[in-house]
Amino acid sequence: MHKLIEGYHHFIEEADRNRYRDLARGQAPHSLVIGCSDSRIIPEAIFGAGPGELFVLRNVGNLCRVDDPAVTSAVAYAVGHLKVRNAVILAHGDCGAVKARSHLEAIDEEPIRTWLCEEGRCDGCLEEAIKAWGRCQLERLESLPLVEEARSRGDLTTGLFYFDLETLRLDRYDDGLWQEVR
Ligand SMILES: [Zn+2]
Repeated sequence: MHKLIEGYHHFIEEADRNRYRDLARGQAPHSLVIGCSDSRIIPEAIFGAGPGELFVLRNVGNLCRVDDPAVTSAVAYAVGHLKVRNAVILAHGDCGAVKARSHLEAIDEEPIRTWLCEEGRCDGCLEEAIKAWGRCQLERLESLPLVEEARSRGDLTTGLFYFDLETLRLDRYDDGLWQEVR
């Protein structure tokens, strides 16, 4: 606990109190990010965003499972209510979920097996597997009626990013192609 309390002390010294006072009245984030719970992947840090800018859902493996109320309620709130302009999946290098999927039978924890068992196994190198995994999540995101409608009205852009931990490179999937963000 000490580590968390110490962290709060640091936060309160640095926090922009005026910004928080404004935010206390409501939020208007520009983007929904579905990212991984992985401690190394911090959407706000990667996208240079402060409080109030990103509506973030994190789970094991950045899954956009359309049968999971945690996912569908986050998308409904962000897209339907907050009217975010972008909804993106943030996949990342060395993703433990993608690695675990390739040897699920060896995973002891039943909840992890249940969470990941519906994901497809990908051949090829880990980066390719993670990127294919991300594309699957994007397809699911785009299949949600609310997302489809907002996109067709031109109110929402969907997307997929891959963040490489080792090099800090960010790749964007657009029009069927991966390109490095520069
Ligand atoms: Zn991950």
